[in-house]
Amino acid sequence: MNIYGNSISRLIEELNRLPGVGAKSAARIAFYIMQMDDERVKSLTDAIILAKTTIKHCEICQAITDISPCNICSNSKRDISTIMVVEDSRDMAAYEKTKEYKGLYHVLNGAISPMAGISPENLKIKELLARINGEVNEIILATNPNVEGEATAMYINKLLKDIVNVTRIAYGVPIGGDLEYVDHVTLARALEGRREIL
Ligand code: ZN
Repeated sequence: MNIYGNSISRLIEELNRLPGVGAKSAARIAFYIMQMDDERVKSLTDAIILAKTTIKHCEICQAITDISPCNICSNSKRDISTIMVVEDSRDMAAYEKTKEYKGLYHVLNGAISPMAGISPENLKIKELLARINGEVNEIILATNPNVEGEATAMYINKLLKDIVNVTRIAYGVPIGGDLEYVDHVTLARALEGRREIL
């Protein structure tokens, strides 16, 4: 039964397809949009179309950007001797927010997953290999600590370990966390990644 009429139902349906938006939220957002000024609705749709039409992969690090090379790759203050390999542009943004990392990135745009039919050829691994030159001292593998992320890290390590220093990020116990509730894989990783107290 179509309670709201075709156009609103269609909007709700489209919103409901977005990640993390359930049926109830989709209806709430749809009704909120209906109450917005025409100008704001236009600004929202324009922003979506503009982002979608201008977006590309950075020719160097493969991150999603609207200028290529991206701001990080073209920043002469970054340390070009270190490349951190991440699965997704959002992971790169997360590391950037820490303001701790000054090197460059390489975005694989996914992780190896036989279940989802994603093999190494589907990832930007070839592009990573092309970046390894005499100036690169370290590759930091910062793929996710799950089965796919670990498989991807192992695969890349095998390819690169004889050419360049390859490291894997250590996984810690969450700050404010209680050791009792941390799963054993995380605890084992935290122990592996231990270092001297400076
Ligand atoms: Zn880049």
